[in-house]
Amino acid sequence: MGCEGEGPGSGSFSPALSGVFETLGPGVISLWRAPYGCDCLWPQALESSFSNMQPVEDFTTIESVFIRKRNALLLRGQFTPVFTDYYLHLMQHGIRHVAELDGMLKDSLAMLALHLTARPWAETIAWTVNLRAPRVNLFVTGGSVAEEVTGRIFTEDVREPDRNFFYSQTTAPGMGEPRTSMLEVDGRDPLRWISQFYDQSEQRPARAFRFEDDHFALVAAQPDCDMEWFEALNEQEVSRIDETEETKLLETRRFRFHCGCTLDKILPVLGGWRERLDELFEDADTIKIQCPRCAAGYRVTRDMI
Ligand SMILES: [Zn+2]
Repeated sequence: MGCEGEGPGSGSFSPALSGVFETLGPGVISLWRAPYGCDCLWPQALESSFSNMQPVEDFTTIESVFIRKRNALLLRGQFTPVFTDYYLHLMQHGIRHVAELDGMLKDSLAMLALHLTARPWAETIAWTVNLRAPRVNLFVTGGSVAEEVTGRIFTEDVREPDRNFFYSQTTAPGMGEPRTSMLEVDGRDPLRWISQFYDQSEQRPARAFRFEDDHFALVAAQPDCDMEWFEALNEQEVSRIDETEETKLLETRRFRFHCGCTLDKILPVLGGWRERLDELFEDADTIKIQCPRCAAGYRVTRDMI
């Protein structure tokens, strides 16, 4: 399949509305208007993901493992189930990302699922990373109770910051106001961002590791952690940790790539336009609107509003 045809950027939208539905946050609609380039990755990624066509579980299981004597918490999981659903979602909605952004979004989904497993069950966490040169907004969100993570990339209409910023927002039932934090991050590697996030917002060090076959791990220091051991950890040691250390499985949680958006959930947001349909549609029969959480595209006609 080439880069022609249906997809973001094809079809029509009302230019008069540019900026009306700015991103930004769950529950807000953005117009589907990003013309993605042809430097697309997904056919190759799909090919490698499905090359063996082995049955894949729907959920990624994350293990939370306490490393005794070292006093560290290890979160680990194999993310093929999450990434498979992510690629199916891209394919379904005609979304294509360049390889670098695709990798960054997948890494961020994995980091979020590992971090969620280190946190209380009730929390829902959203991260937005605002990057410069080239400017990109990367958004991921998820929760342990819902057993889901989702996310997307914004490349259009993104304000270019002078530095890279990482925003975290946590909500939970009974919490009241969301807990937010913001930090400046270096580089474009989500595994490095999470270390910087732990240093500042969790106030304990953490190190993230990426392995072959979609395995990821996060090691977070606990009180009285053996910091010399922690600092010296590498991929090989983390992958063999059950053989070399005394470990105890504390719990498992599971996650899938899933947003839960539907046209029925999105349409009410457009209700305010009912009196101004000409402004909304201009000459078009249909407009496309896009979920701000997962970038799913929905086609809307006048009589739907
Ligand atoms: Zn969605």
